[in-house]
Amino acid sequence: MAALEGDFNNLVPRKILVTGGAGFIGSHLCEELVTRGNDVICCDNYFTGQKDHVRSLLDSPRFELLRHDITFPLYIEVDEIYNLACPASPVHYQFDPVQTTKTCVHGAINMLGLAKRVRARIFQASTSEIYGDPEVHPQREDYWGWVNPIGPRSCYDEGKRCAETLFFDYRRQHGLEIKVARIFNTYGPRMHPNDGRVVSNFIMQALSSKPITVYGKGEQTRSFCYVQDLIEGFLRFMNTGPDFTGPVNLGNPSEITILELAEIIIDMTGSKSEIVFKPLPKNDPRRRRPDISLAGEKLGWEPQVGLAEGLEKTIAYFEELIRKRSTYGI
Ligand code: NAD
Ligand code: UDP
Repeated sequence: MAALEGDFNNLVPRKILVTGGAGFIGSHLCEELVTRGNDVICCDNYFTGQKDHVRSLLDSPRFELLRHDITFPLYIEVDEIYNLACPASPVHYQFDPVQTTKTCVHGAINMLGLAKRVRARIFQASTSEIYGDPEVHPQREDYWGWVNPIGPRSCYDEGKRCAETLFFDYRRQHGLEIKVARIFNTYGPRMHPNDGRVVSNFIMQALSSKPITVYGKGEQTRSFCYVQDLIEGFLRFMNTGPDFTGPVNLGNPSEITILELAEIIIDMTGSKSEIVFKPLPKNDPRRRRPDISLAGEKLGWEPQVGLAEGLEKTIAYFEELIRKRSTYGI
């Protein structure tokens, strides 16, 4: 049986829990897992996600939707867990910072407890925020980070760091099969139009002829990964052998400044919007780019979708959303 494990996993439908499955990344993950023939339970409290994101799956016999807050225990039977539940944009995670820490920490404890009870393999959606405002560039997994423990971003950064600690302690103490992915800035259709993240903000501003708000001088950098590439990385990682736990960086190493991003989006949308400069938020990381050599070596993974192609699809999504204004009341 053990020798057959790899093939066996690919043939028999697995029952998979996706927490935060109605969110931006989670809904793409649910879709892909169902497409690949798995049974998926999507659990979400709809804090930032919405049913609409998984509406196309609701008729599938392979899909089940559960309203549940992971800060409370969950008793179900599953083979695998992807733990994505957590608001991801600074605007959303700073709205109720205590709840953000609870979701990261209590949520991780509950999902790890579930994994331990049913002996499920468990994946954690960790983040590049583990590295804080990094002094090492690009960021490799063995860099421990430079994080403010008491600032406005700390509920998320430290919450996610504590979750990583819990994952590795459950592995050491209880022998759990864990997969910890450090996700870098990801974008694509189904981002929330009001989440304040830079890609959604700039596209919404450009499409509605509002000023493009660049924080600071726009010299800070980020590296943007298209959501479809990220999902492929998740699935490859989850299907590695039990000894590969991560943490592993998943992101696109192509780095640009925020000012360059603003100019590209203005150009691609043909917008008349002007760029305005606003104060840089506190503890805003100055540079961020993943070193993805570990993902290349262990998963044979690297992003395939360039920024222009990904932005084109994302802009088309927001154009359509603006046409259907009533959905979000925007
Ligand atoms: P999102 O806000 O769109 O999705 C998060 C989902 O979790 C939402 O559907 C929300 O309703 C749900 N949720 C929040 N708290 C919950 C709780 N207590 N119980 C149940 N559900 C809850 O964000 P996203 O961009 O899709 O991010 C998904 C995951 O990936 C998060 O864990 C985030 O930290 C991580 N991540 C995302 C990025 C990125 O660039 N998008 C980068 C790094 C890490
Ligand atoms: N940013 C900006 N204008 C905006 C929104 C964000 O200049 O309207 C900047 C922000 O200060 C940060 C970068 O864009 O330097 C990415 O911000 P985001 O909130 O998307 O992600 P994070 O800071 O978590 O990487």
